[in-house]
Amino acid sequence: MLIDTGATIAYKCSSCGAFKFFSISLFKLLYKNENILSCHCGKSNIMITKSKAKEYKIAIPCIGCGSMHVFRLDIKDILYKNDINVLNCPESGMKLCFIGGDEEVRGKVDSFENELDKLIDMFGYDSYFKNTQVMFDALNKIHDIAEQGNLQCQCGNSDIDLLLLSDKILLKCRNCDSNRIVYAASNGELKDSLPGNQLILPDGGKRKSQV
Ligand SMILES: [Zn+2]
Ligand SMILES: [Zn+2]
Ligand SMILES: [Zn+2]
Repeated sequence: MLIDTGATIAYKCSSCGAFKFFSISLFKLLYKNENILSCHCGKSNIMITKSKAKEYKIAIPCIGCGSMHVFRLDIKDILYKNDINVLNCPESGMKLCFIGGDEEVRGKVDSFENELDKLIDMFGYDSYFKNTQVMFDALNKIHDIAEQGNLQCQCGNSDIDLLLLSDKILLKCRNCDSNRIVYAASNGELKDSLPGNQLILPDGGKRKSQV
């Protein structure tokens, strides 16, 4: 019996924002120099090219920052089943791609989507947010930024209140009342209003911005 031990790839589509699963066979990896995997929405794809004998380049259009990122992976990284490869946007830190064993990759995406489900349970899918998927991505991104200690107000405080509106998130400093808005009605808006890996609220005393 022939057992094709390929890998499963979960790719967060740069166009529709959903995770798309691909399974790629060992034979395709070994014998095809270029594999193009397209999302079902038809608007984006990732490309896996063999660059050296045992090295692959994976080009991923990024939902986080809008550019294209190229990652290099060794064939062993792709086929070694116990460890998932997580490919992050170097700009925004957003998780773009998981590669590894089928069960592990699907488990990882499931736990992501469970969190999305919680958000949907709380607010309803269509009723509250303009775009629930983008809102979820925005929350995740803000959470990641906060975890790295990069969410702060210029007054020095890092106790920030977070208010979810239908198309944006309002961040408010608890100390000086300064605020900042992260727009989250579309992928493009999110990318523009939260481009980097940190979030600084303006100094509230003088520059209190309008909501
Ligand atoms: Zn798509
Ligand atoms: Zn990026
Ligand atoms: Zn402040």
